[in-house]
Amino acid sequence: MTIFEKIISREIPARIVEETEDWIAFHDVNPQAPVHVLVIPKRVITRVGEAAAGDGPLLGKLLLGAQEVAKKLGILESGFRLVINHGKDGGETVPHLHVHVLGGRHLGWPPG
Ligand code: 5GP
Repeated sequence: MTIFEKIISREIPARIVEETEDWIAFHDVNPQAPVHVLVIPKRVITRVGEAAAGDGPLLGKLLLGAQEVAKKLGILESGFRLVINHGKDGGETVPHLHVHVLGGRHLGWPPG
């Protein structure tokens, strides 16, 4: 069981922003921007590169969830960035798909 499943089951605490039957959004414990929220599916998809065609509707809901978070936290107008890390070079550390929602400051490009 990953740490994110423990957050879903409330075994460990998190600052939850929003939750639906399909996904949950909570503040990252180590924020890289004034707003840094993770949107994760409740049904485990390990990583984006292992998602199946049947996961399409759930993947779409995660993006709409990120939009909801951006609206709720007031960064829709100022701008924000969505990040999904896959694998070692991508910087993935938790094997449970998650969309980072980053905003509240200007974000440099390209990323490091
Ligand atoms: P990744 O590096 O896999 O793309 O992102 C994992 C993210 O999960 C990191 O930004 C890390 O700070 C966050 N994270 C790891 N453990 C916890 C935790 O226990 N609680 C919360 N809220 N975030 C966590």
